[in-house]
Amino acid sequence: MSFATQVKAELAAVRPALPCCRKAQAYGMAQGGHAFGYAGISLQTESAAIAALYAELLQQVCGCGPLVRQPPAGVRGFHLVTADPADHRRIFDTFGHTGREVSLRLNRANLECEQCAAAYLRGLFLSCGTVTSPERGYHLEFCVPYYNLSRDLPPLFAECGLHVRTVRRKGDYVLYFKESEQIEDCLTFMGAVGATLELMNVKMVKDIRNKTNRVINCENANIGKTAAAAAAQLAAVRHIIQATGGLDALPPELREVARLRQDNPDMSLRELGEALDPPVSRSGVYHRIHRILAFAQEV
Ligand SMILES: [Zn+2]
Repeated sequence: MSFATQVKAELAAVRPALPCCRKAQAYGMAQGGHAFGYAGISLQTESAAIAALYAELLQQVCGCGPLVRQPPAGVRGFHLVTADPADHRRIFDTFGHTGREVSLRLNRANLECEQCAAAYLRGLFLSCGTVTSPERGYHLEFCVPYYNLSRDLPPLFAECGLHVRTVRRKGDYVLYFKESEQIEDCLTFMGAVGATLELMNVKMVKDIRNKTNRVINCENANIGKTAAAAAAQLAAVRHIIQATGGLDALPPELREVARLRQDNPDMSLRELGEALDPPVSRSGVYHRIHRILAFAQEV
């Protein structure tokens, strides 16, 4: 089951307790549906639970139920259509719309109590929302075909502490969140607490994985640097041998380090220092190495 399907299943199981919230949720589902205007009122969904909830809420709130039709070719799931013009009238009257608006707006009169906004957004998400699996990325969106509605929604989200962004896509208006915290807040607000916990869990695992990868990358980079430095030192020693016929041109304390490096290309500076007799600190070896490198540049 995809994450979006899981979120919708969780939201479709929520039944608002108050009549005003049931109305707000029915309103959200209808507005986010396939059509909501004089040409018809319909909702298309792949989920049997969402189809049942839509029919149940419309019946309770408007006193009329939609018909389930065969969906258009190529579309899976349920196509719920209100066919009777008298039913259209009843639904538009209930929600305070004429059904003749060119660009649908949000009628705030349908949001009565403090919980109504959550119920409305839950309904809207059930019919026109989707969310990406947190394994793949952070994205939650509502896709509405009405310009005015797309302008009325951000202030409603903002009142709920959610800062949504809008983008135009193929004639639709997409209201979306990209930050994981905002997605968590939106899911929680709509009532998908289980999905929020799941998202937080996935995020935590991803964070740990990222941190581990960063540490490994960092260590690899360090190992790379050490190896590159050792290779440069080896090259310098070989150059001195080629140019001067051996290492005798080096002072004794440098000669010993050069020989050790030649025999042990993988040793760290600390290990080189420990192998010297008497042992020399890491920084002592570092200085001698620098003198060898400088010497190699002059011969
Ligand atoms: Zn309410």
